Amino acid sequence: MGVGGALLIGLAAAAAATGPAAAGERAGAGEASSLPAATDTRLGGDESRTRFIIDVSQTITLTAFTLADPYRVVIDLPQVSFRFPAKTGESGRGLVKAFRYGLVMPGGSRIVIDTKGPVRIEKTFVLDAIDDQPARIVVDLVTIDRESFMRSLALENQARRAAEPRKSDREPVKAGDQRPLVMLDPGHGGIDDGTTAPSGETEKSIVLDFTQGLRDKLEKSGKYRVAMTRSDDRFIPLAERVRMARQQKAALFISIHADALAKNEGDARGAAIYTLSETASDAEAGKLADAENRADLIAGVDLSGEPDDVADILIDLAQRETKHFSAHFAKTLHAELKTSAKFHKHPLKSAGFRVLTAPDVPSVLVELGYVTSPQDLKLMTSESWRARATDSIVQAIHTFFSKRLTGQGPVSAN
Ligand SMILES: [Zn+2]
Repeated sequence: MGVGGALLIGLAAAAAATGPAAAGERAGAGEASSLPAATDTRLGGDESRTRFIIDVSQTITLTAFTLADPYRVVIDLPQVSFRFPAKTGESGRGLVKAFRYGLVMPGGSRIVIDTKGPVRIEKTFVLDAIDDQPARIVVDLVTIDRESFMRSLALENQARRAAEPRKSDREPVKAGDQRPLVMLDPGHGGIDDGTTAPSGETEKSIVLDFTQGLRDKLEKSGKYRVAMTRSDDRFIPLAERVRMARQQKAALFISIHADALAKNEGDARGAAIYTLSETASDAEAGKLADAENRADLIAGVDLSGEPDDVADILIDLAQRETKHFSAHFAKTLHAELKTSAKFHKHPLKSAGFRVLTAPDVPSVLVELGYVTSPQDLKLMTSESWRARATDSIVQAIHTFFSKRLTGQGPVSAN
């Protein structure tokens, strides 16, 4: 939609004007008093027509659109401070099953509604504050059949894609700099918290802190160019992470995550390293890949234009040596990291992780530990453990590249 595109351009310009550091701080200080506050929500109506109301401290603009499979309604807002009562969004009414909310990028917040079936956004409007009534955002949803839903979705998508700014290379390769590029990928971010510890720590911030430490060490070594898919609290779709690695011709891609177990699933702990495969190495790995691949659904990303068949990617991979490199790095990483980290009983596994699907970039995903394990959580949030673990990863990267250069390891596919 035109308005969505315009909003994104506006935000990018604002971030550029203030510089990345300022943008990051602003995102971190999401509760800054200058931001409009969203204070409450109400749902009215039934399963043919449902009204969604959001109380806000001042009049703000919004863009709303629908997504299919699963059916969702996405409401994009300028950055707001969410001050909803606890448990808001966990249950719904009428056409609304549940909803979630959060920062999707510095300067932009989002509400993603899961609906019970295909819906049409009948109208959206904003009411100014009057007397003791706060300003209100109103979104009216009506039920429609799937066929009409898909038809209007196709039209909406066409308009939205036409209005999207053309993506350009964020960090062009410096001419003459032949050092290999290592791309680090802290999982989740923004509206997508990832897993959450019982004590409240989120995966998205644990892995960002860890990855920033790793980046600093790698840069200091002087041997590599280092890039990150995100360096602040923003959401990046999985396909975009893969695209960044390919476009910048990364020589290695490392995605960093932290797992969690549901209460009734025992008390597993420890790290694990994953590579891409069509068939999961065990049921647990398959379940984890499904959970990690949900990031885009959680954040309200349109997946209709994305190829989703890992099998096709693997055919492509089979023609290259990427898969071999990925497995080789996973082994090297395990050998180094086991000196500083406790590993899960099956330390090397594989499954269909979307973020590992760049056919020309060796890619691994590291689960540092379980946020649901008090011991793991203590380690992952401690300076000394992080220092040891990042040292080990740096060492593994040195080994990986030195073997490639001296011809002891797999020969470069590039
Ligand atoms: Zn994760």
